[in-house]
Amino acid sequence: MNEYDLIVIGGGPAGYPCAIRAAQLGMKALCIDGWVNHDGSYSFGGTCLNAGCIPSKALLESTELYYRARHEFATHGIGVGKLTLDLKQMHERRQAVSKANSGGVKLLFQANKVEGRFGFGKLLGGGKVEYRAHDGKTETLAARHIVIATGSEPVNLAKIAPFDGERIVDSWGALEFTDVPQRLGVIGAGVIGVELGSVWSRLGSQTVILEALPNFLPMVDQQVAKEALRQLVKQGLDIRLGAKVLSAKAGQKDVRVEFELDGKKQTEVFDKLIVAVGRRPYTKDLGCEAAGVALDEKGYVKTDAHYRTTAQGIYAIGDVIARGPMLAHKGIEEGVVLAEQLAGHKSEVNYRAIPAVIYTAPEIAWVGLSEEQAKAQGYEVKSGSSPFAANGRARAMEATAGLVKFISDAKTDRVLGVHMVGPYVSELVSEAVTAMEYGATTEDIQLTMHAHPTLSETVHEAALAVDGHAIHSANKRKA
Ligand code: FAD
Ligand code: NAD
Repeated sequence: MNEYDLIVIGGGPAGYPCAIRAAQLGMKALCIDGWVNHDGSYSFGGTCLNAGCIPSKALLESTELYYRARHEFATHGIGVGKLTLDLKQMHERRQAVSKANSGGVKLLFQANKVEGRFGFGKLLGGGKVEYRAHDGKTETLAARHIVIATGSEPVNLAKIAPFDGERIVDSWGALEFTDVPQRLGVIGAGVIGVELGSVWSRLGSQTVILEALPNFLPMVDQQVAKEALRQLVKQGLDIRLGAKVLSAKAGQKDVRVEFELDGKKQTEVFDKLIVAVGRRPYTKDLGCEAAGVALDEKGYVKTDAHYRTTAQGIYAIGDVIARGPMLAHKGIEEGVVLAEQLAGHKSEVNYRAIPAVIYTAPEIAWVGLSEEQAKAQGYEVKSGSSPFAANGRARAMEATAGLVKFISDAKTDRVLGVHMVGPYVSELVSEAVTAMEYGATTEDIQLTMHAHPTLSETVHEAALAVDGHAIHSANKRKA
């Protein structure tokens, strides 16, 4: 029987870094991954590289270029004649980007002496795992440590709008539309709803997003969320908040969606409907029960602060555990930290400083608490914001929409959160993450020089605005 120090089941952003770090620390590591692409090929990288983060960002990039060429180039004095769209080529590029990334994981395994196998892993208990290759052959393997990193799957509204893979699709299906739908419906104005809604809307789909909650992006500071909503609506996204979807019925040519809004029953007919109402942990056929791995009431694998499940020697990380948001970089950190903990190091994930980004245009990014969350937690809050309209670089880029907002502790001056909407805020948020990781005060950022002209000056200005010191924008708060 093949024996390992560590077997990871699942080769997504949580699993593959865990195997790599374990091998770097001298462990004999195996990573088993069962991902099968729609074309029948196998690849490492899980949802993120094959059907999530990477392909969605590839399409967001392509469609933003298309949108800008159509709507913004003329302002710069650039004419491009008749703009055309080759959707097949756009998809080929998306696939090439995904394949390059997932192929990279294979190379990383080779470089770090991790054994990677395509196929399924099943917990047998007693430190054993059954490996089943895609051709059906099985083998029993043993390991000192076994890590569950099996990820998540989309929530199916089975009673209201069940996926049919044709008219009613999940995010993976929505990345692969072969034609631009004329009328596109989306259920859920969360991260996937606004990202994929933006992709198809930029290419010409009339896009209606039905969101159950009355507030847009409730996890984001509401000053920032309101500005983001304003910008997305301006681009043509029809976002209807407080909409209760009653049913979605797919026919030969379209899908009819009934919903209730403002107490009135309404109907919309779409060519395609994307259901993006969240994801749930994936543990199908994993053998959790037989191995003594307990799940919570929502199906997440139960873990303690060190990722230990209820079964001796079995751990879990990434989307399959309830701790932290379902984000790739959270999974990566957990994978690395778990491998280090197993090697006896004192590593830890800082769950208070996990950045989040929504890759719309303008982008939305945040770390830490919103003003609403900070107040609800009993902090005495001081806040300050600065608009990109007051930033020279943003003006030169013709990208002045948005703002950066600091949420700070009035008693200690510590930065509690930084929320932003604007150009490249996916990159700008890193400064705030580093600041929070180091336990920075608002003054620390105020005293840090930022190059001119850069978008990062708006981060500086927002920190100054907290104490009424902003130079390039009007201070709401007086010093
Ligand atoms: P997964 O990536 O889901 O990987 C789990 C792997 O385990 C899969 O390959 C699965 O096939 C395999 N597996 C399951 N069961 C078994 C088994 N029994 N045996 C063997 N293998 C098994 N996050 C971000 O941070 N940034 C983004 O921009 C972003 N964009 C996204 C866009 C979309 C459309 C979606 C759907 C998600 C996006 N996410 C993003 C979320 C991100 O993809 C997930 O948080 C991340 O992939 C979770 O990593 P994981 O390793 O826990 O699980
Ligand atoms: P989400 O939780 O972000 O949003 C789901 C939305 O659907 C919520 O606003 C919710 O109120 C709404 N909703 C739920 N039930 C509804 C109903 N019946 N009718 C109408 N609205 C309803 O989930 P998602 O957008 O599906 O994304 C899933 C996960 O993938 C998220 O946890 C996210 O972190 C991750 N993801 C991240 C990124 C990124 O980091 N850029 C991109 C895509 C996905």
